[in-house]
Amino acid sequence: MSRVYNFSAGPAVLPEEVLKEAAEEMMDYRGCGMSVMEMSHRSKMFQTIIDEAEADIRMLMNIPDNYKVLFLQGGASQQFAAVPMNLMKNGVADYIQTGQWAKKAAQEAKNYGKVNIVASSEDKTYSYIPDCSDLPISEDADYVYICENNTIYGTKYKTLPNTKGKLLVSDVSSSFLSEPIDVTKYGVVYGGVQKNVGPAGLVIDIIREDLITDDVLPGTPTMLKWKTQADNGSLYNTPNCWGIYICGKVFKWLLNNGGLEAMQKKNIEKAQILYDFLDQSKLFKGTVEKDSRSIMNVPFVTGNDELDAKFVAESKAAGMENLKGHRTVGGMRASIYNAMPKAGVERLVEFMADFEKKNS
Ligand SMILES: *Cc1c(COP(=O)(O)O)cnc(C)c1O
Repeated sequence: MSRVYNFSAGPAVLPEEVLKEAAEEMMDYRGCGMSVMEMSHRSKMFQTIIDEAEADIRMLMNIPDNYKVLFLQGGASQQFAAVPMNLMKNGVADYIQTGQWAKKAAQEAKNYGKVNIVASSEDKTYSYIPDCSDLPISEDADYVYICENNTIYGTKYKTLPNTKGKLLVSDVSSSFLSEPIDVTKYGVVYGGVQKNVGPAGLVIDIIREDLITDDVLPGTPTMLKWKTQADNGSLYNTPNCWGIYICGKVFKWLLNNGGLEAMQKKNIEKAQILYDFLDQSKLFKGTVEKDSRSIMNVPFVTGNDELDAKFVAESKAAGMENLKGHRTVGGMRASIYNAMPKAGVERLVEFMADFEKKNS
């Protein structure tokens, strides 16, 4: 068996301990004679799995009792519709457009109400997070929406926007569980888990209880109504059992490794290694303004498309996969999520230094 260093933006690297444990339990989950994939979602065994997963993520993120945790399908993209359907009472929402995911979310919301783009960084290819300390927040806005870590462009909010008392909704897909957050600052925090948490096919919503009501937009599908999911403990229909099971293992892995404070420390350390190299390199250049840098997704370029392609090909041959940048941005991108070991980042930087020597 040989494993590569996988810098994919998502689906992405998972902790080896978790994969090994899942492999050991594949044929016979804890004496029940079947795998979790084969198990009824109504069984006691599975109920224990989902209950433990919820208890563990609550502990990890210090989620207050007045927030519900939902394990849903449809990915983050489906929540782009669920958010306005469940939250638009006045039919108005403010969006901060810091990249493609925020833009897609705003476009989706336009199907259901009036959407104001109150700030955007589109003018500079989304290479920074705009100043959000005094935005023209709409008086009748039902919520203010952000994408907290911009997976494609590699930017991250360092302080949350001043929403002037309005509800904050945040897509944290690519920074989920990478650092502690104060859940009480949000009305809704949600993320697809396939970036930093688990396998594809599961999105986790953390929603303040009072926002989960029957008062949703007319025509909201039963499945997209958060109340349906909350009332049924995420088991209204068959959930992504396997995804919930693996995420539960990742939560335990995080708890056993010092929780989110420890993870943040490691993540900052890993990102620093890469940014320090980029800041002194004469060949490679980070594409993001320094005070907006993500510690999860690090895009960089040489400024020469041919050299970029050569770098991607040669790094792949050297055991580093998925360093090609997003198709809309070009260049390279290293996603260095929780499960990427420090040794992987060190190996990448060593390879970059060597590539620079040979190509300049
Ligand atoms: C990947 C990603 C999405 C889309 O996730 P899906 O689960 O594929 O719908 C949305 N937002 C962010 C920030 C992402 O990184």
